[in-house]
Amino acid sequence: MRAELLKNPVFAMAATQFDQVADFLELNDEIRERCKWPKRLITVTVPVRHDDGSTRVYFGHRVQHHLTRGPVKGGLRFHPEVDLGEVAALAMWMNWKCALMDLPFGGGKGGLNCDPRLLSVGEKERITRRFTMEMIPFIGESIDVMAPDMGTDEQTMAWMLDTYSTHAGHLVPGIVTGKPVNLQGSAGRTRATGHGVAFLAGRALSKLDIPVRSASAVVQGFGNVGTFAAETLAAGGTRISGISDVTGAFWNDKGIPVDKAIEHVRRTGGLQGFPEADPIDPDELLVQECDVLIPAATGGVIHGGNAARLKCRVLAEAANGPTTPEADEVLRQRDEIFVIPDVLCNAGGVIVSYFEWVQNLQRFRWTEREVITRLETQLEGAFNRVLHFAGRHQLSHRTAAQAIAVHTVGDVKAQRGLFP
Ligand code: NAD
Repeated sequence: MRAELLKNPVFAMAATQFDQVADFLELNDEIRERCKWPKRLITVTVPVRHDDGSTRVYFGHRVQHHLTRGPVKGGLRFHPEVDLGEVAALAMWMNWKCALMDLPFGGGKGGLNCDPRLLSVGEKERITRRFTMEMIPFIGESIDVMAPDMGTDEQTMAWMLDTYSTHAGHLVPGIVTGKPVNLQGSAGRTRATGHGVAFLAGRALSKLDIPVRSASAVVQGFGNVGTFAAETLAAGGTRISGISDVTGAFWNDKGIPVDKAIEHVRRTGGLQGFPEADPIDPDELLVQECDVLIPAATGGVIHGGNAARLKCRVLAEAANGPTTPEADEVLRQRDEIFVIPDVLCNAGGVIVSYFEWVQNLQRFRWTEREVITRLETQLEGAFNRVLHFAGRHQLSHRTAAQAIAVHTVGDVKAQRGLFP
């Protein structure tokens, strides 16, 4: 199984990062092995009747990296190329994210190899409900709490909640997070990740003595995270010079009106044809001069071929794994670029997911203002811990963030001991 997982390049990347951190921490072999490998790798087949009467069997994966510090927490994605190794890598990163943020969770991730763009609403609902049924032996409010990710949304979570609750015979709101607010979702959850990215970008700019009001930003990916990050930065006075999505990239020196871009995507389904900015080559977008570069789409977009050409002052990693290890080496030499690593940068989503879960368990409601204030407090604390640790040990922000997290998990494993 080790070799199988390591064959996947994303898992290999997560494992390499872990090994570097474990070397720095001088973890003993026992703790190193127990921290590195996932506790549970679950694969289920999900047979689904399509609208045309045919039946197709999908493969669903859920990886629970470990349950040492609490239930696992992490998203569920619907994507045609979902792969167990990649899901395991994302679960490992979630693990470090939860530990860094001091949330009482381990990391988890799930995925189903379907293409949501080709499915009707009814087909998506049947896939979601059948997958949830298959997962019932492995999930629960105290075991594994899923959330939306690529290709899934609050409606998906509503179907999961309904399926699980119907099986339990009573409403179990804490079984998923990222639910609709009137189904005991949390105020502020939808904007949490993007808001957190913008908040941390602002903190990084202030460390560099660049006023947020005179800064410029480029955002790759204009979905949930990218739009809220752009909207929040723009509300603070930052000029959004460039944006992109899978349909195209756009540039406007004077600043892109973010609200109009959001409206354009809502109407047409993508940025293609956006009239308020000029088209630009999507690869070139990433190497334009700006104060903040926010990759908020897929992994591996900052690589050996473009890392040396970046012209940003802050790299705010909103996506998971946007920077390859090769690019990371280049960035280590370029200390004029302030990197906010993904485990820190996009943690706003899991923090507010935690708040949602706590509200569900307590049958209590917080206002959006309370949620956002607590979110910023939690992010500020983690940001300062990472900077302090990195400065003290002369480490990159990424290694520092992961070192804090791995140290936390390793300590808990050592305290709990090895059963039997
Ligand atoms: P989403 O599906 O809402 O949006 C993704 C966006 O990226 C879309 O606009 C899509 O068109 C665009 N895109 C895809 N491929 C692209 C490419 N090659 N070039 C440019 N744009 C491209 O997804 P999301 O929820 O916004 O997530 C974005 C990233 O943030 C993912 O890596 C996800 O894992 C990560 N993330 C999301 C959350 C969350 O709360 N949603 C939390 C943590 C991390």
